[in-house]
Amino acid sequence: MWAPRSRAVVDSFARRPTVGGLARSFWPLGAPADGRPRTPGGDLAVDFLGSGDALLDRWFTSERLKAALAWFGAQSGPPMSEPGTAAMVAWATLLHDVPPGHPVGGSGGLTQALRRRLEADGGHVALGDAAARLLVEDGRVTGVETASGRRVAAPVVVAACHVLATRDLAGEHAPPSLADAAPPVGNGFGLVVRALTDAPPSYPGVDPAAALGGLQLLCTDRAQLAAAHGDWLAGRLPREPVPLAMCFSATDDTLAPPGQHVVTVWGQWYPYALADGGDWDALAEAEADRLIGAVDRFAPGFAASVQRTYVQTPLLLERELSLLRGNVMHVEMGLASMFAFRPTPALSGYRVPGLAGLYLAGASTHPGGGVSGNSGRTAARVVLGDRGVPARAREALRRGLARVRR
Ligand SMILES: Cc1cc2nc3c(=O)[nH]c(=O)nc-3n(C[C@H](O)[C@H](O)[C@H](O)COP(=O)(O)OP(=O)(O)OC[C@H]3O[C@@H](n4cnc5c(N)ncnc54)[C@H](O)[C@@H]3O)c2cc1C
Repeated sequence: MWAPRSRAVVDSFARRPTVGGLARSFWPLGAPADGRPRTPGGDLAVDFLGSGDALLDRWFTSERLKAALAWFGAQSGPPMSEPGTAAMVAWATLLHDVPPGHPVGGSGGLTQALRRRLEADGGHVALGDAAARLLVEDGRVTGVETASGRRVAAPVVVAACHVLATRDLAGEHAPPSLADAAPPVGNGFGLVVRALTDAPPSYPGVDPAAALGGLQLLCTDRAQLAAAHGDWLAGRLPREPVPLAMCFSATDDTLAPPGQHVVTVWGQWYPYALADGGDWDALAEAEADRLIGAVDRFAPGFAASVQRTYVQTPLLLERELSLLRGNVMHVEMGLASMFAFRPTPALSGYRVPGLAGLYLAGASTHPGGGVSGNSGRTAARVVLGDRGVPARAREALRRGLARVRR
């Protein structure tokens, strides 16, 4: 039942979040089938607006299975008790269509492949010289000035950084739609421990091939997730960290020297700003040890196998990757900041009303964080549509009127 629904969600993620676009994705779900009449839209809406926990309670009895699926669903951030999270749990059905993947050599392999493709099409990638400000004339973006002072003229700029970074780049030229944007950025998301080990995690009674080829969702009771989320809401570190372990070196021998492994341990939820004023730089190692200890309870011997760690706290994610307040999704992924509400209702069309030539893409925009490429493709389509013949005529008229006014 949820596989076609999840496919409809995927379809809607690849379109602009307009009423028409959403209807095209979701309308076919109600089609009459197996002698049954059309499912009323209201019934579908009730299912989609339900919580992930409610969906799990309806279909499963094993708490261990429900906990693992809820932990999977929570990877986007919201706990599965929130309304509208049913589809996040049901996303698991898509793993039958497309199993989880990882580029050989690490995630950077995807970026490198995209770069090769762009350059093959005549594009150019410039690194190490960040955009410092947008150049604007007559209410229209005309290019970008970089940190080194280089000026790059461009009739169109697609900003794929955090929407609040784009606001800073526009500076005094930011129109109200951008200047007043205040999307929910939240208070941190997760903590990552990258461990070099002398053995992969070993889970007693579990076939290593099955365990190490997938996400190791180390949670047996949804109460653990609820408690960790409750601690986060209170601005506290989780009293009982919930880990997700991944060991890609088990299937990719380019990642670690022979005889060694890399294990990524992701923990959620960790506040960026701690209520007691705690300093993340001082807390990092101890929290990493607690998270490793949480894996060790499922895979005895894991902690002893760890040789070196690199710990990415919410603060480090901000410093290192420009992820504001450590939110890896840029903006929270709750129902009120998805689809036509992302990053804000005014900016949800990939354009910036009031500043022609500036477009938005990336995790701040629909469909949000995660590695899918959807927002970039949809933004490109919007740009191409705007630069079609009627749009060019509109632009000539606008420039003509601006000249007359001067
Ligand atoms: C530890 C971790 C694990 C994750 N695991 C998964 C996963 O398993 N599956 C999944 O789908 N997603 C995962 N994610 C989330 C996913 O990686 C992000 O949602 C995704 O990378 C967002 O991509 P983006 O290009 O939109 O934004 P970003 O990756 O945030 O890229 C924006 C870029 O803009 C740059 N920038 C900012 N300002 C400027 C400027 N002035 N000039 C030039 N450049 C600028 C930044 O440096 C940054 O490189 C994970 C994220 C993290 C941190």
